[in-house]
Amino acid sequence: MRASNLYAPTLREIPAEAEIVSHQLMLRAGMINKVAAGMYAYLPLAWRTMKKIMDIIREEMDAVGGQELSLPIVQPAEIWQKSGRWSVYGAEMWRIRDRHNREFCLGPTHEEIITMQIKQGIRSYKQLPQRPYQIATKFRDERRPRFGLMRGREFMMKDMYSFDRNEEGLETSYQLLYQAYGNIFSRCGLNFRPVEAASGAIGGSGSHEFMALAESGEAEILFCNQCDYAASVEIASVPVRAEKYSGPLAQVEIVATPNCQTVEEVAAFLGQPTSQVVKSMCYHLEDGLALVLIRGDRQINEEKLSAVLGMGELNFATDEEMRAAGLVPGYIGPVGVKNIKIIADNEVPLVANQITGAGQEGYHKTGVNYGRDYQADILTDLRIVEAGEQCPHCSGTLQSARGIEVGQVFKLHTKYSDALGCSYLDENGKEQPMVMGCYGIGVGRTMAAVIEQNNDEYGIIWPVAVAPYEAVIVPVNDKDPVFTEKSEELYQAMLKAKIEVVLDDRKERGGVKFNDADLIGYPFRVTVGNKTKNDGLVEIKIRATGEVIDLPIEEAAAFLKEKIAAAK
Ligand code: ATP
Ligand code: MG
Repeated sequence: MRASNLYAPTLREIPAEAEIVSHQLMLRAGMINKVAAGMYAYLPLAWRTMKKIMDIIREEMDAVGGQELSLPIVQPAEIWQKSGRWSVYGAEMWRIRDRHNREFCLGPTHEEIITMQIKQGIRSYKQLPQRPYQIATKFRDERRPRFGLMRGREFMMKDMYSFDRNEEGLETSYQLLYQAYGNIFSRCGLNFRPVEAASGAIGGSGSHEFMALAESGEAEILFCNQCDYAASVEIASVPVRAEKYSGPLAQVEIVATPNCQTVEEVAAFLGQPTSQVVKSMCYHLEDGLALVLIRGDRQINEEKLSAVLGMGELNFATDEEMRAAGLVPGYIGPVGVKNIKIIADNEVPLVANQITGAGQEGYHKTGVNYGRDYQADILTDLRIVEAGEQCPHCSGTLQSARGIEVGQVFKLHTKYSDALGCSYLDENGKEQPMVMGCYGIGVGRTMAAVIEQNNDEYGIIWPVAVAPYEAVIVPVNDKDPVFTEKSEELYQAMLKAKIEVVLDDRKERGGVKFNDADLIGYPFRVTVGNKTKNDGLVEIKIRATGEVIDLPIEEAAAFLKEKIAAAK
């Protein structure tokens, strides 16, 4: 490729709308261009890297029995209604209607549609396992699209689905895919860590997320400093360790707490630690309201809560709704509450002599005790575990790190095959539901994560395997025809050696070309300059290490060929 023909509109300035470095660099290197919130055009450099990542994914999927196919993006509402997800998915699902007013969605994921396909084509245990996959565009109308390709509303995903005869088969598929994911992210040059994960809207149980470690990551992971426990904060759970109180139980008293709104204010006013307060929050249910209780010094884990409430999206009840239900906003408490489901975190019963809202403007109750004064309908783990707490598996301490979720693997079991009737006949001719798994990778997010981990003040530092081009030739100027001639010769030699190379033939100063080479992040830069003219040497600069090597121009192509092969 000649740089004079390459469509890569590079920018000198850091674009104001980009908050994280990968987004800034993709815009600056002329890789992507925004079309609408969360929707981007992938320009040629980005698309080359995307294709390389997709090729790596294809190789690893095919190696574990994957079969690539292609499913429609537009999906009929009926199959989602059948699986029960049409109502659960919420506003993230992009819903459309055809000219006959029939409902469809732009696929956010494809469990329903692939399950219907396999149901139609597979009859016997002899045909299992099946591991179909596709690499295709997905749509999710994200609440906060941001960070460029990291969280788009339209994005490329590889999704594989496994269909097995039983749990044992699923376990085999899951392990194979888990390994394959490790291979993929290693080959892409990522520093990553698999962690135990929540299943979210996909459902099922048993899941891992592959996290590329990065400060800018939206996900928090907790890992043990002694054993190999690692989990997404969304799912991390530790046993209740609070001591059971055996002292005297106080009587309930109603106390005035003027101008105290927050847990901190109430606790400080009453001279108590925040852990004595039980926070009450009121959420929507499909049919009514739920009162959710947690210790005052803890935070609600929204993933856990939405799983318990069975709501895809959590919404607080409005003040009017609370008043209509007999609650006083700002002063809600569990005592005396009627016709509202109470859901409490496991630690709540262990707080003796609790402070709660009094159900009266400006007042709280003290001396409230679980069991004696109120009871929850559901007691479960609802809280966020924090760094510094004890590991659930050993005596180690949990530490936290931030990560970018580049992939996730899920055991779905028979959630979809039961709902959609996807079964097979076993050896005895008996009908059995297929046991499923599903496995996703965000292609654009992976590319962004690679940049997030591989950059410096000058630009991107591509790992060779996913670089849009492997090398660039920079003639320092075009005043002297020797530079142009020698560059052209070398360009032809490198093309012949099947090196993916750009010849920077633009009529620009050497400094501009060097800056663009660093910004775009070619792994190898070959400079044709005075040393070439005088001594027949070219200068090869390795982007990742800054190492500079002078070589006779005739040897450059073979040398680079070897270096590139070794780096893949
Ligand atoms: P997140 O928690 O980040 O919203 P998710 O868990 O909902 O992601 P999955 O359903 O597991 O996402 O999708 C599989 C993969 O697709 C993710 O691991 C991620 O790499 C990618 N992905 C998901 N949502 C987006 C998005 N909005 N933009 C880009 N990639 C995405
Ligand atoms: Mg996920």
